Amino acid sequence: MLPISPRFYGFCPDRIVIDMVKQVHPEGRHVDLAVNPLYSGLVPAGGVPRYRLAPGPMAPDSAAALVRDEIMLDSNARLNLATFCTTWMEPQAKELIADSLDRNLVDHDQYAQTAELETRCVNMLANLWNDQGTNGVGCSTGGSSEATMLAGLAMKFNWRARRRAQGLPADRPNLVMPSAVHTCWPKFCRYWDVEPRYVPIREPGFTVDPSEVASLCDENTIGAVAILGSSALGIYDPVAEMASALDRLQAERGVDVPLHVDAAVGGFIAPFLEPDLVWDFRVPRVLSINTSGHKFGLVYPGIGWIVWRDKKALPKELIFDCELLGGSVPTFTLNFSRSGAPVVAQYYAFLRLGFEGYRAVQQACRDVASYLAEQIAQMPALEVISNGAHLPVVALRMRPDTTVTVFDIHDRMRKHGWQIPVYHLPDALDDVVVMRMVIRNGFSRDTADILLNALRAELAELFPAPMAKADKPAMPTPRRRGPVYH
Ligand SMILES: *Cc1c(COP(=O)(O)O)cnc(C)c1O
Repeated sequence: MLPISPRFYGFCPDRIVIDMVKQVHPEGRHVDLAVNPLYSGLVPAGGVPRYRLAPGPMAPDSAAALVRDEIMLDSNARLNLATFCTTWMEPQAKELIADSLDRNLVDHDQYAQTAELETRCVNMLANLWNDQGTNGVGCSTGGSSEATMLAGLAMKFNWRARRRAQGLPADRPNLVMPSAVHTCWPKFCRYWDVEPRYVPIREPGFTVDPSEVASLCDENTIGAVAILGSSALGIYDPVAEMASALDRLQAERGVDVPLHVDAAVGGFIAPFLEPDLVWDFRVPRVLSINTSGHKFGLVYPGIGWIVWRDKKALPKELIFDCELLGGSVPTFTLNFSRSGAPVVAQYYAFLRLGFEGYRAVQQACRDVASYLAEQIAQMPALEVISNGAHLPVVALRMRPDTTVTVFDIHDRMRKHGWQIPVYHLPDALDDVVVMRMVIRNGFSRDTADILLNALRAELAELFPAPMAKADKPAMPTPRRRGPVYH
């Protein structure tokens, strides 16, 4: 029994609790906390209103418990192999995030040091992507989608300025990109009135032919996009070869098309696992690069990054000076206010892991992906088409001689709790249906074995091995059910 003075009721915001307490103790002096009030009939039978505000307040613990009960129903993110997003961080990172949730990133006057951390992160990324001493410029964003909007806008403004300076029309911009681009690119095109031109990805490489990229470009092309690697299959586009094809285009037809690399995931893989792969600012034609801090940058959502090769790449009209919050703060983002917590968390991850730490984490993911791919390649009817050699992603399809589909396998794996997405590839390959698994930090080889066992069990049901008559046991063999104690 916990004494509560009658005066307390005046402050207690939870009407439901007050009513109960008054019923049980009309004089209102004691409340029995031995029974959790939330689950013992205190919430009205009809529950709390869901789609309108409740008429009054509720005690913070009750509200928090109710919210927790709702989000508990979200599935287990660690079993979700669809997303590239970070689903595990260290407790120290969680603490820092909680400590800095109130920081408004745009308010450089108040949170000058958080702004400084953002600048340091941009510099670290520019350096990681071999900025050739040009001192890349950039900023954090809500994710790669916002980053690509900014990259696309910069390309559009640069192109328009060039056209106008030549006295040429600038009203029909287009963007050339692989058909495997993430939705954020068609979105950019629709939102900012740019014609999308898709270069089909093809077998056997499941990527674009660089000469096809160049052939779709003309004087109205604001830029071309290369993906490192595709969200659908985790396969890298041949960035350097695409740049060479665009170099030839410029030499032959005088059309100068900048290249943007959408390295949403690969921006945090290739520098650590393939330092010799030339895809970044070492390629002179690469103007800008985006990445998602909240994917293999190993930070919880939502944070992305955009870095331009140098100041010249970023049109001045896109930068606004805001004096509203004190000082003069140049901003180039779609949103104004945003929490500084993800930037703090990104800085923590950089500091905590360093180059070798990131390398080890990404290598572990790739190793597990390769292991999964090897094991799956030995299973009946499945064909591995992406084996973790680029992003730590395993993608597979059914061999042509079976009626079982990847949708069947998806449904069966769902029963085990696994979420493994299944989809059609774009355009020229739209008759190919794939199932794809993203291996993220926190997915160990043990977890992979659990998944493989579930998959083997389901495949054994879908493809029962034909048994020769002589092999069949005449009588069912008695099964031991564990130790027997007498
Ligand atoms: C995830 C992804 C995006 C979008 O990134 P968000 O951070 O989720 O906005 C863009 N491009 C590629 C290649 C991606 O994998």
